[in-house]
Amino acid sequence: MSKSDDLFRRAERVMPGGVNSPVRAFRAVGGRPVFIESGEGPRLRDVDGNTYIDYIGSWGPLIAGHRLPAVTNALSRILQEVGTAFGAPTAQEVHLVELICELIPSVEKVRLVNSGTEATMSAIRLARGFTGRDKIVKFDGCYHGHGDSLLVRAGSGVATLGLPDSPGVPSALAELTLVIPFNDSAALEDLFGRVGSEIACVIIEPVAGNMGCVPPEPGYLALLRDLTSQSGTVLIFDEVMTGFRVSLGGAQELFEIRPDLTTMGKIIGGGLPVGAYGGRADIMDQIAPLGPVYQAGTLSGNPLAVVAGRTVLEMLRAENPYDRLEQLGERLERGIQEMAVEKGVPVHVNRVGSMLTMFFIECPVTNFAVAKFCDTDHFCKFHQRMLQNGVYWPPSQFEAGFVSVAHTERDIDHTIEAIGKSL
Ligand code: PMP
Repeated sequence: MSKSDDLFRRAERVMPGGVNSPVRAFRAVGGRPVFIESGEGPRLRDVDGNTYIDYIGSWGPLIAGHRLPAVTNALSRILQEVGTAFGAPTAQEVHLVELICELIPSVEKVRLVNSGTEATMSAIRLARGFTGRDKIVKFDGCYHGHGDSLLVRAGSGVATLGLPDSPGVPSALAELTLVIPFNDSAALEDLFGRVGSEIACVIIEPVAGNMGCVPPEPGYLALLRDLTSQSGTVLIFDEVMTGFRVSLGGAQELFEIRPDLTTMGKIIGGGLPVGAYGGRADIMDQIAPLGPVYQAGTLSGNPLAVVAGRTVLEMLRAENPYDRLEQLGERLERGIQEMAVEKGVPVHVNRVGSMLTMFFIECPVTNFAVAKFCDTDHFCKFHQRMLQNGVYWPPSQFEAGFVSVAHTERDIDHTIEAIGKSL
C-alpha cells in the first residue's frame, strides 16, 4: 500500500471523509487523494516521492509558487523577532491594508479576517445592516464560502459532490437568498424590476471560478452596476479568487467596474490564512467599533499571516507579472486545444489570464447550467491519468486551475505532453 493510501485510511477513521475540506478528498475523480510532503516553486512532492507540476496552487493563493524565498524569509523574521499573535494592533497589519487600498482604488477601508468565508459572511451582514434590507442575490454555481446565506445553489465542492442545498441551513434564511443564472441579463433586469428596492446586496464572482472558469459576457457587469446603483443595492465583488490574480487590481480593474464592497482572500494571505472585506468608507464605517454591525476575530490581522500576504503583494506590485502570466496561460490554453483536436476529444477551454478550466464539452461554457453538461466521467479518467503523468490538476470539472509565476515555458510544455498522453 502506498504511504498516501495508508495515511488516507488512518485519516478516514478520525476525520469526516479523511479531509478538512471536501474537494481535496478527490471523490469526483476516484477518491484517492495524494498526501503532500512538500512544495517548491511550481512543483509538489507527495509522501511516496512522486513529483507533480501543480496547477492548484493551494486553490489559488500561491501565485508565486511554493516557498517563495521572500515569503519564507519574512515569515522566519516574524517568528524570530516578533511573535505569532497578540490580539492587539501591530504595524504589519497597517502595512498590508494600506497596500490593499493602494492597489484596489474602490477599497477605501478594510477589515481583515481569516478566510474567504468569513469575508463574504461579514460583507453580507454589513450590506444588510447598511441598507436595512434582508434579501440578497447570488448566482447559480457561484461559491462564496460556506456561510448559511451563501450555501444556496453553490458551486465548487457543493457542485462537485452534486449536493442539493445543504441541510442545516434554516429555510427561513435560505429563502432570503435569491438565485439567478450567471451571464443572464434578462433575468437580472426582471429581478430588479420586481424586487430591486428590497435587495440588500448582490454578491458575484466577477469571473466565476467555482463552476469552472466562466468569464462575464461583455456588458454584464456594467448592467449589474447600473441596476444595483439605481436601487440602492450594495454591489459586492467576491474577489477571493480573482483579486491580484486576473490583474493587480483584480477583476474590477480588468472590467473597469467599481463595486461598493470587495471580498478578498487567497493571494492576500500569501499561503497563510487571511481574508478581508473592504470598500466604500461610508459603508465600512458601519462596522463595530465605529458602527453597530458586529464582527470580530481573535487572530484577525496577526503579524505572521499578514506579512506573507504583504510580501507577495509587494512582489506583484514591483514585478507586475501579469503579461507573463497571460503568456503562460495562453500557451497552456493553445496546447490543450491542439492536443484535444489531435486526439479527437471535445474540449472547450475558458481562461482569464492565469485562471483556466478545460471543460469536456463541445460548446462554450457561459454559466453553470451549461457546465453541468460536461462529460464528468471522461474528466474523472483524465484526472487520474494526469496524476500518473505527473500533473496535479484540479480534481473537479467545476474548479479553475491556476498558472503561477513559478511555472516556466518548459513546465507548460511538459504539462501539454501529459495532457496529450492523458487524453
Ligand atoms: N469566495 C470565493 C470566490 C472562493 O473561491 C472561495 C474559496 N474557494 C471562498 C469565497 C471561500 O474562501 P475560504 O475557502 O478561504 O473560506
